Amino acid sequence: MAAQMRKPLMRIPYTDILAAPTIIPPSATSAAGALAALQTFLEAPAPRHLPQRTVVLTGAGLSVASGLADYRGSKGTYRVNKSFRPIYYHEFVGNHEFRKRYWARSFLGWPSLYGASPNSGHYAIRDLGELGLIHSVITQNVDSFHPRAHPHIPSLELHGYLRATVCVNCRSEFPRDVFQEELARLNPRWAILLEEALASGALKTEDPLERRFKGLRMNPDGDVDLPDAPYTTFRYPPCPSCLSDPPTGPDGHRHMVQADDDGAWHPSSTAGILKPAVVMFGETITGAVKTAAEQAIDGAGRLLILGTSLATYSAWRLAKHAKDRGMPMALVNMGGVRGEDQLFGDTVGHDQHGEEAVRIELPTDELLPALVTQLRKTAIPVISQESSDSTQGSSAPFKDMLS
Ligand SMILES: [Zn+2]
Repeated sequence: MAAQMRKPLMRIPYTDILAAPTIIPPSATSAAGALAALQTFLEAPAPRHLPQRTVVLTGAGLSVASGLADYRGSKGTYRVNKSFRPIYYHEFVGNHEFRKRYWARSFLGWPSLYGASPNSGHYAIRDLGELGLIHSVITQNVDSFHPRAHPHIPSLELHGYLRATVCVNCRSEFPRDVFQEELARLNPRWAILLEEALASGALKTEDPLERRFKGLRMNPDGDVDLPDAPYTTFRYPPCPSCLSDPPTGPDGHRHMVQADDDGAWHPSSTAGILKPAVVMFGETITGAVKTAAEQAIDGAGRLLILGTSLATYSAWRLAKHAKDRGMPMALVNMGGVRGEDQLFGDTVGHDQHGEEAVRIELPTDELLPALVTQLRKTAIPVISQESSDSTQGSSAPFKDMLS
């Protein structure tokens, strides 16, 4: 394995403008041509030295049709919310004020995320799995739509998930919806504000412009911008495990974990800090997840990339690794992709119909269901590989991620 695969992986935002794609094969500019190319891609034999299996890598573009924002505009060339600056891990862990601000915004963003559902693109992945054409999914999304839409296809959540909180000290996880009730109890005035925002429809609309008009900005990690909000009044609870049994620090001393009379985390505490169970920007992806993602690529002979500009290095390097292994690659994304030349440059102009490379710029929520319909009409049934051996070689880390 290349040396770059062993470096620690940090999630860092990438904001460069990306060049428009070259569509491959050229016939894939039309919907019919795109469907034909994807069918060829999925049904062609994998190169002889590689397994006859397909792994999928997805990003925020796949969830846009569920009403969740993408970091980039529909053409991938600009930031949707120019003032948006994500919180960094070291800020969250090191500073009570940053945590107050984060949790206040997350408190307001949660109902929209909790109420959102997988879309036709996610269900098409389930159907492609049932047709025996997709064997595992690696996602950068933190919305849990993959495990919800296709529980029988293993989903590796590269950047974690918003459905849980995790303690930075003892690593215990807790359900995010229960945490939301705690936040409402500790912040009654914010709870009223949230109820009013929900009643006004400001958080329900899927139109970002309308939302902005109402003073709210929803960001892809499920938080909401509220200009001039008194974030400093916000309170959040400590980790219940650390509160009842404070952990021992690296220096051998027991941490102090204290709550105020209402049960909010007290600033005299030295531990018991809950964070969302997502990999924040500036945070390192755990070794187990990194290894599982590499194994998912190594266990397949084809890579299908959906709804991502590969802007995060963690996703880009997986695609590059697949390329270096000689895996045929298909990429469906609105707008350009980071390092697109390195992934597809050597296949432009080849006389091929999708068996080597496919690059499409069409919406996944329309293209993928149409692909399923077409394959059901024409595909030779493939014996289902959804049995327990379908994650052979990487089942343990995959199953950990699904729990
Ligand atoms: Zn804890």
